[in-house]
Amino acid sequence: MRKKLHDKVNAYKAADEARRMGVYPYFRPISSAQDTEVIIDNNRVLMFGSNSYLGLTNHPKIKEAAQAAIAKYGTGCAGSRFLNGTLDLHIELEEKLARFTGKEAALIFSTGFQVNLGVLATLTGRNDYLILDEADHASIIDGTRLSFSKVIKYRHNDMADLDAKLSKMPEESIKLIAVDGVFSMEGDIAKLPEIVQIAEKHGASIMVDDAHGLGVLGPKGAGTAAHFGLTDHVDMISGTFSKSLASLGGFVAADRATIEFLKHHARALIFSASMTPASVASVIAAMDIMENEPERIKQLWDNTAHASKLLKQAGFDTGHSETPIIPIYIRNNEQTFLMTRILQEQGIFVNPVVSPAVAPQDTLLRFSLMATHTYEQIEEAVGKISAVYKQVKAMSAETQAI
Ligand code: PMP
Repeated sequence: MRKKLHDKVNAYKAADEARRMGVYPYFRPISSAQDTEVIIDNNRVLMFGSNSYLGLTNHPKIKEAAQAAIAKYGTGCAGSRFLNGTLDLHIELEEKLARFTGKEAALIFSTGFQVNLGVLATLTGRNDYLILDEADHASIIDGTRLSFSKVIKYRHNDMADLDAKLSKMPEESIKLIAVDGVFSMEGDIAKLPEIVQIAEKHGASIMVDDAHGLGVLGPKGAGTAAHFGLTDHVDMISGTFSKSLASLGGFVAADRATIEFLKHHARALIFSASMTPASVASVIAAMDIMENEPERIKQLWDNTAHASKLLKQAGFDTGHSETPIIPIYIRNNEQTFLMTRILQEQGIFVNPVVSPAVAPQDTLLRFSLMATHTYEQIEEAVGKISAVYKQVKAMSAETQAI
């Protein structure tokens, strides 16, 4: 039988089905700034589903910097970094990032996703190995799909498995371990001291994707490697500007030779337009605030400790989270979606996380903190999550009894 694209896309009904049941949780339009409180459908909703860990996305100084950049440079660069799209502002940010991460040089891409596509597809070849934690972010996985090298995954944070897998790889192959610094759904931290030790034993290189570690871990928010004092033992540190740094874009920092190689080989950089002036200026302003106002990071950790304590007291399984990303394991897709909807009706925004973002049995509500949340907001959210959990469990028990 002839197969047509049209038939395939028309057969996709899952989203419609969820809409019909009133539990569709994606693409919820927000008509305000991304802050601790947002407006959805004309209602005020407390935001516990954001990656704006430092609460900077609506900061007046950052907005001013973005406006000034637009006034000076216009709205776009109309080309890639490689050709006409490099501004002095891009170079300024790269130099700042290199200093901040403690590396010789840095290179900015238009998104964090593109960093992983560019770096991983470029650095290893046909006879080489890319080694991933099974919980790594989708952009790392997609980066490996663009690479011709062999891809091997080890069990999440399982160092014996990492060691065993590396032991089987030939001496003469390049080996690059790519790992999230902070795991984006589980909120736990990579075991970097052990990874470094194992990598050194096998002659492997390490790239830490610190999308969720920057602005959160380490002195002045310098990230996971700095947190462990291992900056010099990690070959590459990458990150995004779409979380703590209140903008859009991403970077990789490394030694000068690696950055030079990437500048001339990474297709996701060379064949894509550069970050807009407003986005770059926002990052520079956000980094200044982060470095000069360390109390924000302290507040983020106070909020995290408070929320974590309350969620545990309420009896929730929050896994191995050690960061402002707190998974609330529900382990049932329908109940997770239903809770998301009822919570939003009650003024609380959380994200449902189902397969393939986590294993099918690990369905969770992702609860994330910002430095700007108040204890009252956190207490209100945890109280409501608790009550709604009981309500949804009772509804499921009733349905099963029928
Ligand atoms: N890496 C990780 C670990 C992430 O969580 C994300 C975003 N969710 C990215 C990369 C991609 O970053 P960006 O949003 O800048 O594309």
